[in-house]
Amino acid sequence: MKSRLLLHICCAPDEAFVIQSLQAAFELSCWFCNPNIQPENEYRKRLEEASRVAACYAVPFNAEPYNPESWHGATAGYHHTPEGGERCFHCFLLRFRSTAHYCKKIEWPAFTSVMSISPHKRIEMLDKAGTIAAREYNVEYKPFNFKKNDGFKKSIILSNELGLYRQDYCGCILSRKERDNRKSRIT
Ligand code: SF4
Repeated sequence: MKSRLLLHICCAPDEAFVIQSLQAAFELSCWFCNPNIQPENEYRKRLEEASRVAACYAVPFNAEPYNPESWHGATAGYHHTPEGGERCFHCFLLRFRSTAHYCKKIEWPAFTSVMSISPHKRIEMLDKAGTIAAREYNVEYKPFNFKKNDGFKKSIILSNELGLYRQDYCGCILSRKERDNRKSRIT
């Protein structure tokens, strides 16, 4: 019998690659909890696309109700830090606490996150947040590194093949402003 592993999902492209990578070894279930994503229409777009991918691979999919205020509360005091800094640590912790809580609720033993595929996400920061959340809920965090072996490049190829929506900013309103600033420096 396969071990059960809950996947924290942030977006469809990362989700598709990770499901393909793990489905032979684990029984999977998806948990979409991303109160960081703003504005709401962007959140709905990513949620729908992630739900569609899970259905394609016949993996159960559930989502936390949208609550952007929880992200503001968790990251208050860190908004001045750049992407990759303290605000991201608290953003990860918020989302992993929700995932660990859901993992405990459905009585599955372990969770991980598809976010480690992104070159913008620091593995040691993800693992620290995952370990803290897992300990709080008495479940296991599995520290995968999906960037290894060209995982990110392969995920881009796969998402193009599947015609998936790929966002061009991480999710929060601050990362959207950072994206806008990058664009205005180029033009
Ligand atoms: S940049 Fe991404 S990980 Fe960092 S706080 Fe914003 S949404 Fe969260």
